Amino acid sequence: MIKLLPSSVINKIAAGEVIERPASVVKELIENAVDAGAQRVDVAIEQGGGELIRVADDGCGIPPDELPLAVTNHATSKIESADDLFRVGTMGFRGEALASIAEVSRFTLRSRTPGATGGAELVVSGGQAEPVAPAGCPVGTTVEVRNLFFNTPVRQKFLRTPQTEIGHCAEAFTRVALAHPERRFSLSHNGRTLHDLPPTDDWRSRIAVLFGQEIADALIAVESEEDGVRLAGYAANPTLSRANNRLQYLLLNGRVIRDRSLQHALGEAYRGLLLTGRYPICFLRLDMPADKVDVNVHPTKLEVRFQDGGRHYSQLLGTLRTKFLTTDLKPVERSSDPTEDEADAGGSSELVNWARTQLTQRRLDASHEGRAPATPSSAPGEPLTLRRFTPAAEAEARSAGNPWRPAGAAAAGYASTEQPQEATSRVDTPHDQTPGGGAPNALQLHNRYLVVETEAGLEIIDQHALHERILYEQIRTKVLAGALEKQKLLVPEPVDLSPSEAAAVLENQSLLADLGIEVEPFGGDTVLVASYPAMLAKLAPAEVLRSVVEQLVGGGKAPDRRDTLDELLHMMSCKAAVKYGDPLTPHEITALLDQRGLTENHHHCPHGRPTALVFTCDELDRRFKRI
Ligand code: ADP
Ligand code: MG
Repeated sequence: MIKLLPSSVINKIAAGEVIERPASVVKELIENAVDAGAQRVDVAIEQGGGELIRVADDGCGIPPDELPLAVTNHATSKIESADDLFRVGTMGFRGEALASIAEVSRFTLRSRTPGATGGAELVVSGGQAEPVAPAGCPVGTTVEVRNLFFNTPVRQKFLRTPQTEIGHCAEAFTRVALAHPERRFSLSHNGRTLHDLPPTDDWRSRIAVLFGQEIADALIAVESEEDGVRLAGYAANPTLSRANNRLQYLLLNGRVIRDRSLQHALGEAYRGLLLTGRYPICFLRLDMPADKVDVNVHPTKLEVRFQDGGRHYSQLLGTLRTKFLTTDLKPVERSSDPTEDEADAGGSSELVNWARTQLTQRRLDASHEGRAPATPSSAPGEPLTLRRFTPAAEAEARSAGNPWRPAGAAAAGYASTEQPQEATSRVDTPHDQTPGGGAPNALQLHNRYLVVETEAGLEIIDQHALHERILYEQIRTKVLAGALEKQKLLVPEPVDLSPSEAAAVLENQSLLADLGIEVEPFGGDTVLVASYPAMLAKLAPAEVLRSVVEQLVGGGKAPDRRDTLDELLHMMSCKAAVKYGDPLTPHEITALLDQRGLTENHHHCPHGRPTALVFTCDELDRRFKRI
């Protein structure tokens, strides 16, 4: 029999979607205060929010007779028709937050409108409303939420420690406070002030009080406008980065969103400026007419759907690239070679040079594919001065446009035109011209570096970086040819994952199969590993899968198959390579050095770090002041 659900059940279902934990309550209440035009919002939390969340504002208030409506599902003052959904300008509009919160807590709403002589109060306990009563209170609204989830024990069980929950609450607070620097916000936990943010018209100072001066000082302002879409804000100098993408704040029309495509654009803009595993820091606002975006695709509006996502992708990428080009970013690494300081006199750094190379490459790629380059750049014919110690990212720059380009093409496209002859021959020298033929005169230092005498001088090799690079090339070739050796497990191994991890793994089943990792669903969030790459035999299958999962769901994940594959190849070669600190036998050293010549680009490891430093006798003589 089909029955209409009672409204309390409907509200509980809605509550499950919108109110996941105390932080969700904090978010909804602060957003309501902002929508009400509050200039001051004070948030007080006790015990991670499980005990109390109080949000007080000085906004427009709610008239006493509308208080019951405020806690009724689908009651909102913010939109009137379905059409309005496409021009939402407020943070809320679904009219379900207060109803949901009141369903799963002991809830008090106290409010007074500006003209009124007094205020009124509504108490709702587990969805049961009491009559509205008069109350003495200042103009504005105060919402108190006590004993969250007291009547939904399952939810309550999932609450973490107060410390964890307050962390999430503070993040929710930060997101709104970041978007509204002109208003005053405060946050306290168990009576202790965590934030007290003075109003300001300077976004950077709001960022500074929220995230610290070091970050604020490293920010580079960016700005652009294309077709009514305005991008403005800050991207941090690559000298400052993080191990995850949590400091990437993207605001769309005043609301923090997460968008994988735009995060990818950001990663691309910093490609080569940061080592693998490091994430850029940014605070960017994207403002566009509300009808260019659908914000009604996610219950908490964290994700949105753009009408023209591709455009915003190129705008973000182009704006940052152009900015990095004209900014003398601090180099990632520097050589103390005096001749290079002269090259610096023109004010251009390694990174600027690198960025130029990369842009030129993108244009070449773009014109080969018959489309216009997305970003402006320096003139294509402009001479490029690459430094002796090439910047960390230069290898990537040359392969960035098309990582699968065959070796010959890469050489033909670049070596002759963009790399000074001298540098090319110098780095290639040791393999071909080592005294004594095949067995190079090499020495292992501290189980980390190999020092090799070359005809021109000497070379210091990072053993891990070189091996990783070699393996990367080898696996890539094999994977592309479908010939990677895999190890079948006698008994497939179950691995427990989180729901999103399991989904990501199964979504990429065929890609993983190409890498020799065969996985199958095993019910719930468990997957079975049936085989894994033989080259990773020294690792446990579960460990291999977990590393893969990290790449698949980790921040900065690339959306297309090719990039994902590339990241997985990097991960696998890194895991399989000899480690920094591994002692090597003379035989292993010889083998490693011998394989060097076979790789397409052995000067840099796949992370973009150099695998070798070269010192010519000339240079040594100069440094010892002989010449
Ligand atoms: P929504 O924000 O999606 O409209 P809510 O359930 O969060 O839905 O709020 C319902 C209504 O209650 C709002 O539309 C608004 O009219 C009113 N309201 C909620 N919080 C406040 C507040 N802090 N100040 C003034 N009005 C409020
Ligand atoms: Mg709301």
